[in-house]
Amino acid sequence: MYLSSNIYTKLWTASERYIARGMPEVGRPCSEQYRKKSTHSLITTMIQKKEYHSGNPGKTLLVFGAIHGDEICGPKAIAEVMNEIDSGKIVLKSGKIIFVPVCNPEAFKQNKRFVDVNLNRVFKKHPNPTKYEEKLANILCDFMGDADILLDIHSISSE
Ligand SMILES: [Zn+2]
Repeated sequence: MYLSSNIYTKLWTASERYIARGMPEVGRPCSEQYRKKSTHSLITTMIQKKEYHSGNPGKTLLVFGAIHGDEICGPKAIAEVMNEIDSGKIVLKSGKIIFVPVCNPEAFKQNKRFVDVNLNRVFKKHPNPTKYEEKLANILCDFMGDADILLDIHSISSE
């Protein structure tokens, strides 16, 4: 199926490009200035999900970005690939892709790793969620129920 290697390669090279772009200026991957300039449209308090259906049977790929709010390469890479699908540059031949560009919107907005607790450490269903990230985990776990494959994009930065 088309979704496999091409999409992964696209996402990988797109996220690498953002790391490389941020480097020379300030010595860290994503400067505050760069972040403000180019991620504006991704900043929201709700989890946004976008689905692309090929119209043909096949696997479902789920792609997560910014599980950690300060890791912005994933959202940028996802936005780039979504643009290419929207413009017809990438054509899905089978299956379905679900993108969640920003899994932790509030932490992303504040440019911090998490709000209450590390989302990665509470990734399960919470019958009585009290922390912000527990509520997010409930929503994201539901998305995972629809997927055959999960690609969860993380990135690192150095001070
Ligand atoms: Zn991370």
